[in-house]
Amino acid sequence: MKKIIAVLVTFFLIIGLIFIAIGNTNNNNTEKTDKITVVTSLFPEYDFVKQIGKDKVDVKILLPPGTESHTYEPTPKDIVNINEANMFIYTSNQMEPWAEKIAESIDSNTIILQAGQNINLIEVEHNHEETDEEEHTSDAHIWLNPNNAIKMVENITDKLCEISPENAECFKNNANEYIEELKKLDTEIEEVVINSKTKKLVFGGEFAYIYFLDRYSLEYATAYDGCGEGAEPSAKKIKEIIDIINDEKIPVIFYEELSEGKIAKMIADETSAKALVFNTVHNVTNADLENGITYISIMRENLDKIKIALR
Ligand SMILES: [Zn+2]
Repeated sequence: MKKIIAVLVTFFLIIGLIFIAIGNTNNNNTEKTDKITVVTSLFPEYDFVKQIGKDKVDVKILLPPGTESHTYEPTPKDIVNINEANMFIYTSNQMEPWAEKIAESIDSNTIILQAGQNINLIEVEHNHEETDEEEHTSDAHIWLNPNNAIKMVENITDKLCEISPENAECFKNNANEYIEELKKLDTEIEEVVINSKTKKLVFGGEFAYIYFLDRYSLEYATAYDGCGEGAEPSAKKIKEIIDIINDEKIPVIFYEELSEGKIAKMIADETSAKALVFNTVHNVTNADLENGITYISIMRENLDKIKIALR
């Protein structure tokens, strides 16, 4: 009798284990197929997708932290990752010219979206000191105006709803809530600018801020002409910036994140200005991601420094 009971107990134990095992594989499968997989080029798109899709999306950023965003060379593994994803999002052909080439070479069903597709670009002036010629190129860092961020969120939401109509209502609700947050951020920045004594910001790092400056009607002076061009400012230009800081008693010189800010710190040493980071939100570190950094949290941190710069 004891033997029969032992055999029965073992039998039911095995059956039980089999059921648990089947249950587990089923769970894994549904989890894999349920989520929309998205690859984004940069951090703003990554964060926007997360805010809209929440637990219904699985998002990855293509560019490693601190990588130069404009001249990036995608690896074969990047292409594989994009091919396997449901969706690839980048800012625009102007911002990431390399992404346009990826888009052309993708042979899968991956849906490709330029999040900034319907946003007007602003032209910036470049002065060639040797020839004294002026050149105009369009700047592509559109997300630094929160109103453009809203348009990007709307574009991403539309595409996510197309990919997954059964979740469309949820995506639209999340997007609307998030857009309210972005509007709040925009108002906060506007109020700081309106209530400040001075309206000029000075930059001693890669220049990516025209959309921000344009939105809040701020004046500016910059040592660098643009972003990702690799050309250091001339001694004449640096002298010009030092004079502006001294003449107008500018308290802060800004430089971009994930850089040493060599020129900005040099200018700070020559003047009474402090060198501070104005984060351009191209991309972030892994530690930042683990700490749950967001577009809005970065912009609020920027705002704290702008308060110091505008007094
Ligand atoms: Zn840039």
